[in-house]
Amino acid sequence: MPTPMITDLMSYLDQSVTAYHATLTAEQTLIDKGFTKLDEKEAWKLESNGKYYVIRSESALVAWQMGNGSKSGVRLIGAHTDSPGLHLKPNPQHSKSGYIQLGVEVYGGPLLASWTDRDLSLAGRVILKDGGQLKVKAFKSDVVLLRIPQLAIHLNREVNDKGLKLNKQTHMPPIFALESVDGDPVDENLVKQLIADSLQVDAKTIANWQLECYDTQTSSLSGLNQEFLVSGRIDNLTMCHAALKTLTEKQFTSPQTAMIALFDNEEIGSSTQNGAASSFIRDIIQRVVDTSGEQHSLQRGLADSLCISADGAHAIHPNYAEFHDPQHAVKMNRGPVIKVNANHRYATSAFTSAMFEQLCADVDVPVQHYVHKTDLPCGSTIGPITATGLGIPVVDVGNAMLSMHSIRETAGVKDHEMMIKVMQQFFSKEDVLAV
Ligand code: ZN
Repeated sequence: MPTPMITDLMSYLDQSVTAYHATLTAEQTLIDKGFTKLDEKEAWKLESNGKYYVIRSESALVAWQMGNGSKSGVRLIGAHTDSPGLHLKPNPQHSKSGYIQLGVEVYGGPLLASWTDRDLSLAGRVILKDGGQLKVKAFKSDVVLLRIPQLAIHLNREVNDKGLKLNKQTHMPPIFALESVDGDPVDENLVKQLIADSLQVDAKTIANWQLECYDTQTSSLSGLNQEFLVSGRIDNLTMCHAALKTLTEKQFTSPQTAMIALFDNEEIGSSTQNGAASSFIRDIIQRVVDTSGEQHSLQRGLADSLCISADGAHAIHPNYAEFHDPQHAVKMNRGPVIKVNANHRYATSAFTSAMFEQLCADVDVPVQHYVHKTDLPCGSTIGPITATGLGIPVVDVGNAMLSMHSIRETAGVKDHEMMIKVMQQFFSKEDVLAV
């Protein structure tokens, strides 16, 4: 039986089928735990130990508990709400060979083959006209609507030896329906009609939408001892959930502000309105540390701040062990992973690594170290972007996982609670480090 925390994580993964849904689901937890929503357009009156959150552009949020006022710095945990996938084009519907298909763009870097032969559906946000106003509404169809069928092996005899090569334009449009056999003209905007029926609104009120494909299969546990968690979007909703639970399950008494930032668009480089490279986090920190009105309060607050950037780490794959550095092979259920890269694709320094190791030791959690194999290009995270944008020390960490960017990824069930324990220590400990 999964622990209550893992059950809660699985529910978060299942509900959060897009970055927008991940933010809405997180917001509900914040509301339930007594956090107050703030509007960036308004003036704020922040109180010591008060709990607040801000959502920017619907799919990213920053939430925090104010410090007690004796120190102005921020302890920040960052993660990202988005995952690689297939997004609908503005005019997706087209007919081909008797089928109705939907055109898709590839978002980020998914393992495309994993999207074939899956029970897919549609989710995202819809913009509705409400009088002279526009409003955003969540959309998620629970019906299996789409499929990207592979070509039969009899028509592609070499696929197992030469690999499945997928052209993003021609091989990825999912099949949505069959054309009618009696020659009835096809409704030219079936997606719009589907949205109207599902949301029970007049199709004329639908101004626009941003929809993407998602896998209707929900998360599950696997393995002889149920030691694995398998799901879509483990990268990086597990770390969003860990950060959220860390902030909301305990009241902190530390002098610094405890803050989490769940950014959108990490998978495409973070340079968007609510990505880690935007003004979002700096804008919020400025307003949080600037309550004293003292000179240079932002700079002084940042100089007293620290960040944990939490994202997936590559567990060693038994069938491809040669793709891993043998000295830095990390394993599932063996504790959080500190990620280091000499070229700073990860933001970790010797200093922040030692800081995180100490936090793990404080709460009796084991820790592992990951370095990408030197002859392979290393991925990156929001860590270096946050370190650059704020000029604060950052440690890049994560939990070990397999099949990163597959439609269905694998992680260890025990690592999640270990990470939360360490994150709680990060928020609780009075002096994390003295330089
Ligand atoms: Zn990630």
